[in-house]
Amino acid sequence: MKKRILVTGGAGFIGSHLCERLLNEGNEVLCLDNFFTGNKANIVHLLKNPYFEVIRHDITMPYYLETDQIYNLACPASPIHYQYDPIQTIKASILGSINVLGIAKRAHARILQASTSEVYGDPHVHPQVESYWGNVNPIGIRSCYDEGKRCAETLFMDYHRRNNVDIRIIRIFNTYGPNMHPQDGRVVSNFIVQALQGKDITIYGNGLQTRSFQYVSDLVEGMIRMMENEEFIGPVNLGNPGEFTMLELAEKVIHLTGSKSKLVFMPLPADDPTQRRPDISLAKEKLKWEPTIALEDGLKETIKYFKRILDL
Ligand code: NAD
Ligand code: UDP
Repeated sequence: MKKRILVTGGAGFIGSHLCERLLNEGNEVLCLDNFFTGNKANIVHLLKNPYFEVIRHDITMPYYLETDQIYNLACPASPIHYQYDPIQTIKASILGSINVLGIAKRAHARILQASTSEVYGDPHVHPQVESYWGNVNPIGIRSCYDEGKRCAETLFMDYHRRNNVDIRIIRIFNTYGPNMHPQDGRVVSNFIVQALQGKDITIYGNGLQTRSFQYVSDLVEGMIRMMENEEFIGPVNLGNPGEFTMLELAEKVIHLTGSKSKLVFMPLPADDPTQRRPDISLAKEKLKWEPTIALEDGLKETIKYFKRILDL
């Protein structure tokens, strides 16, 4: 049955893929975005669909509409962007959550929060399981994002316990793919753009810190399975358990682009987590979900996208 679905942050990297998939499945999609890090180019091809609507709005201000489901993605996600205006970042998570939870409560809509592996901080438990409470610095430069997202989880759980709002919480691990902004500042886009332009590849610290990279289509599949699940509210990790150092990632990108770029080492930003890998047992059990796209295959698609938009 056709649903009306609100996607906040729908013009961003992940949101644009989600909007497209939901439209292809025959839904009506309301994309709400203030275009801080989102981009019209990500959604312009969807505008010809009469069931797609774009709302320019900042989610830190209340908004009223009728909807069946809400995916709440509105928040800058790259460290460079979320540290640019840290107060606005924490407002996007906290005031934004209060505003969308208010819509969900009034409209009796199911609502999914795009939380993050950052709630685990620099983790002492490896790989990260959902029952781990994390190791987060509350006063550092990443706190506006990490603590904002942690507080958003609290708000979702309290609206659920107190007001019976039908919530879902997913914790997304590092995700990459087409529609990332070339100046986004995250590692996959940085390395690919640098390699394609023959510039130095910027390794922060010694490059031995690890991340697990998930291709965006795998994430979107997991998000929809979570939204459509009738009983399980989460939180659930959605990520690819393959774990790589930043040096390994740089080598792969150089190999796949055939680039002559050299590695340069730069200072490690404060509070940069040293290791990160999801335990996805819960997602496998409850959602019958696991990622299907290997890092090399996802990187090839992402390289193709950047070649196109950089006109190379
Ligand atoms: P993105 O920056 O491309 O998308 C965020 C979108 O939200 C943008 O379109 C931006 O303009 C919009 N936005 C920001 N503040 C807003 C506000 N106040 N009002 C309305 N719109 C606003 O980032 P993304 O990678 O697509 O991330 C989407 C969501 O997923 C974010 O909530 C992020 O925290 C979460 N997440 C992403 C990753 C990842 O690796 N990409 C990992 C964990 C969690
Ligand atoms: N990183 C890097 N070079 C870059 C950008 C990032 O070495 O040009 C490192 C960064 O220090 C971190 C990892 O890559 O250890 C992932 O960074 P990103 O900003 O993509 O995501 P997050 O730290 O939020 O997981």
